Amino acid sequence: MIKTWSTPATVQEERPIPCVLCGGSRFKKHFSYGDFRYVRCTICGLVQINPQPVPAAVRDRYGADYLSYERANETAFLRLQELALKDAGFFDDLEDYLTVREPPAVLDIGCATGALLSSLREKGWQVTGVEISRPQAEYARRERNLDVRTRPLEENRFPPDSFRAVLASHLIEHLNDPASLVREVYRILLPGGCFYVTTPNIAGFQARLLGKRWRSAIFDHLYLFSAKTLPALLRRNGFTVEKTVTWGGLAAGLAPPRIKAWADRAAKKLNRGDVMIVRARKPNEKFAGLYPHVEQPPQVRPFPNQDFRQNASGSESSGFIPLHVPTGVF
Ligand SMILES: [Zn+2]
Repeated sequence: MIKTWSTPATVQEERPIPCVLCGGSRFKKHFSYGDFRYVRCTICGLVQINPQPVPAAVRDRYGADYLSYERANETAFLRLQELALKDAGFFDDLEDYLTVREPPAVLDIGCATGALLSSLREKGWQVTGVEISRPQAEYARRERNLDVRTRPLEENRFPPDSFRAVLASHLIEHLNDPASLVREVYRILLPGGCFYVTTPNIAGFQARLLGKRWRSAIFDHLYLFSAKTLPALLRRNGFTVEKTVTWGGLAAGLAPPRIKAWADRAAKKLNRGDVMIVRARKPNEKFAGLYPHVEQPPQVRPFPNQDFRQNASGSESSGFIPLHVPTGVF
């Protein structure tokens, strides 16, 4: 099984940090891979590398190699991202808002070479990107004339209520503190705006089948979310989770095309796909009535953590196909 491309392992902190989802401090071994190991929170079931690699080492990972990787797979990644956004209702959502606020602003965090932003700009969006990999950010500015910031999201100090939509594809699993990202996205989204998060699904068929050989169990992925733990993180930070779609049954090359097509359909239908996209909305009580054509989201449940124990049963294993993963290695 060929894995997703990853940088090599680096220095780790000496002690585990509390679980980013539930604050718990007890972990069980999930599996080891090479020099690092994944653990599972005994309360909420979130799978994570903990102790973590030091943040400075994480930030230094994404250099020139990432640019060649992204450039080589740009067209395939763009197609996958647009399909995922379509499945999650992104384009329908936009049409709603085009009637009331123009042009709608979108932020893509981890925008790589800016292919998606460029495509959205052509569709009428006002686009901004965040990309900490400098070679990629420079490429996006130079070749596509895009506004791309190279600081991590939280350091950009975007004004509150700035964006109609925020996208993050194959980004959240790379961060030391994904909860901090979620809180910042909540702050900069307009009330009623949506956050679209794409990440591998550790509860998918592939991850369950392959365990540590799963292509997304790589050193660059500090967290391996499931279709339960990612929505829980979003809800816990104020969002209303509206939709979770998964896809990808078998990696290319693992089975004949007909079997793969069948597995892909089954995985999607059973919500056990290898990758997932979640649409989470910032509630818009503040503007209730201003957008009568937009359905009001249900009340936020800030701590819906009663579900956690069911989730910690060890059924946490998933598979996913990162959108930013090289097609060549699928
Ligand atoms: Zn936890």
